[in-house]
Amino acid sequence: MTFESLGLSPEILRAITDEGYTTPTPVQVQAIPLVLAGQDVQAAAQTGTGKTAGFTLPILHRLQPMASSSPSPARHPIRCLVLTPTRELAAQVQESVKTYGRHLALRSTVIYGGVAMPPQVKALQAGVEIVVATPGRLLDHVQQKTINLSQVEILVLDEADRMLDMGFIPDIRKIIALLPERRQNLLFSATFSEDIKKLSQGILNNPATVEV
Ligand code: AMP
Repeated sequence: MTFESLGLSPEILRAITDEGYTTPTPVQVQAIPLVLAGQDVQAAAQTGTGKTAGFTLPILHRLQPMASSSPSPARHPIRCLVLTPTRELAAQVQESVKTYGRHLALRSTVIYGGVAMPPQVKALQAGVEIVVATPGRLLDHVQQKTINLSQVEILVLDEADRMLDMGFIPDIRKIIALLPERRQNLLFSATFSEDIKKLSQGILNNPATVEV
């Protein structure tokens, strides 16, 4: 299996080559075609399996055709929201978005608590297609009306089991209530406990299951 045969665009393949990746990992082989096809996906994958590229690469591909170099925020609605349990993971995921999207005209930012709001507000006002965030601080932006989630097309819940353990589910439900009903949902979790399955059933729409 090669990245080329998974159907990713030349700009994304170039970034993969820049990184020195030669072969997609098992989770990537399974998840990438499903995400490209617009399917909801629930994936059981630990850190270290290549799960981040497994969702980031096809998301970048899906968002790519409408990318615009216009600086107007109205032309850059948030189209993908990635929720993570910790700021470290949020920063790491956004780094991957930047790395794999380096040949694309898509913008991203990262939102987490424990740091000042104004720089985050500024980044949002400048216009970004992809936001990677922890739930609590994202809701602070919602309350302050400094973020508009009404045009999100893709929602990713990364490390959903940790978000559940950390008590983020009520926050996540509040956030989901602000998203368009018609959207693609991706859920990644190290394990598929009963609680995660229930969460997934409530949020995902007829999901494909990936297990590695
Ligand atoms: P993750 O499981 O997403 O935390 O990724 C673990 C590590 O694997 C990261 O450092 C990635 O840069 C790396 N990685 C992801 N996909 C590949 C691949 N197809 N080939 C080689 N390394 C990869």
